[in-house]
Amino acid sequence: MTQCFHTVKELRDYLKPLKAQGKTVGLVPTMGALHQGHATLISNSAKENDITVVSVFVNPTQFGPNEDFDAYPRTLDADLEVVAKAGGDVVFAPSPKEMYPSADDTWVEVTGNITKVLCGKTRPIHFRGVTTVVSKLFNIVGPTRAYFGQKDAQQVEVLRRMVKDMFFDLELRIVPIVREDSGLARSSRNTYLSAEEKSAAVVLSKTLKRALEKFKSGCTNLNDVISFTKTEIAKEPLANIEYVECYGLPGLYELKEEITAPALLAVAVRFGTTRLIDNIILE
Ligand code: AMP
Repeated sequence: MTQCFHTVKELRDYLKPLKAQGKTVGLVPTMGALHQGHATLISNSAKENDITVVSVFVNPTQFGPNEDFDAYPRTLDADLEVVAKAGGDVVFAPSPKEMYPSADDTWVEVTGNITKVLCGKTRPIHFRGVTTVVSKLFNIVGPTRAYFGQKDAQQVEVLRRMVKDMFFDLELRIVPIVREDSGLARSSRNTYLSAEEKSAAVVLSKTLKRALEKFKSGCTNLNDVISFTKTEIAKEPLANIEYVECYGLPGLYELKEEITAPALLAVAVRFGTTRLIDNIILE
């Protein structure tokens, strides 16, 4: 059975002698409700490191006031089983008080367009919460490598910037999007979807794939690619588009008329009250 620690001290006491022996440590930060996407991050870490630490923490500071912090699924017992099966060694499941011990806040914030476009537009405090909690986890664990999913493509770009600017001494390992057989990107929030919404949501991966095919066959005009993607998604009556946008990689730089590869084509779309994100790299 996977060991589970709830305090920083317990986890550090566990890691200290192992690190002294020169063991490498992989960190997989998650918010729990673990699925096959998370399991892939964990098994990649287990392959590449001596010890894999999986954090399970629904981080309050990355949720806006009207978002789903309270409703977010919390399934620690099932999560421990997923971690064990995927080859993880320990789970770190702290309380909010353990992670935020002071009454006032200390923030780690990446500024500039990279946190203002895409999800940053409607979730203005989200990335500040992510970079703050991930910095804390990096300082608590001191990992050799940290694992994140391409599913949250903007998060990846923001964290790359943070690691560079803050001189975090670790390697970021990015894992491709894990999808259901239907193509739907796996997400803890998929549990909110009705059966009808779930099959409607397949439109996202289907359309992104078609947009990539169009791009590869020579359609590289920014407006054309975006309007094709919007039009195709809008054909699905249950889809309510928040954004369809495309930015240059690395760093999410603004594109002019033409898309220069590699670029990120990203969407956020609501199905009922559930907001889903998906993306594809045009290259
Ligand atoms: P979350 O628990 O949603 O915060 O996700 C924790 C980590 O798992 C993040 O780095 C996510 O990008 C990654 N992740 C979540 N879903 C997937 C997926 N379908 N494929 C790959 N990585 C994922």
